[in-house]
Amino acid sequence: MDRTLIILKPDAVQRGLTGKIISRFEDKGLQVVGMKFMKIPVELAEKHYAPHKGKPFYDGLLKYMTSSPVIVMALQGKGVVDIARKMMGATFGFKAEPGTIRGDYGVSASFNLIHGSDSPESAKTELAIWFKPEELVDYELAARAWVFD
Ligand code: UDP
Ligand code: MG
Repeated sequence: MDRTLIILKPDAVQRGLTGKIISRFEDKGLQVVGMKFMKIPVELAEKHYAPHKGKPFYDGLLKYMTSSPVIVMALQGKGVVDIARKMMGATFGFKAEPGTIRGDYGVSASFNLIHGSDSPESAKTELAIWFKPEELVDYELAARAWVFD
C-alpha cells in the first residue's frame, strides 16, 4: 500500500477546519496510519522545505509553518499520493477548484491549509522526516475490502 505525508497547516488548526479535512480523507476511504499535533521546530520546517530554499516565498513559508500548531498525518491507500493531491486542489484557494479542500475553504495567496507530498519519492522522504518507523502503525482497516478492489 502507498503512503503519503499530509500536514494540516496552522491556518487549518486556527480556523477549526482540521476535523472537516480529516473527515474528507476518511470518507474517501483513505487510512490514517500516523498522526501528531505539534508546533513545528524551525529546524524541522527547514528540513521539510529544503527543496524550496532560496525561493522568494521561502522565509515567509517558514514563518507561517512555525507560527502555530499543525497536525501531521500519514495516509495510506492505493495511489494515495495522487488522490490526496487531487483532493487538496491547486496551491492557492483563489485558484483551486470548488470541491477541493483548498478550493472550498480558502482564498488566500499565502495561507493554503494543507501540505501533501507531490510524488511517491517525496512521500518517502517526507514521511521519514516526520515519523519514526514505529510511529507508523500497521493495522487492517475493516472496510478495506469494500474500498479497494
Ligand atoms: N508557497 C507560497 N508562495 C508561492 C508558492 C508556494 O507561499 O508562490 C508556499 C505554499 O504554502 C505552498 C508551499 O509554499 O503550499 C510549497 O509550494 P509548492 O509549490 O510545493 O505548492 P504545493 O505543493 O503545496 O501545492
Ligand atoms: Mg509541494
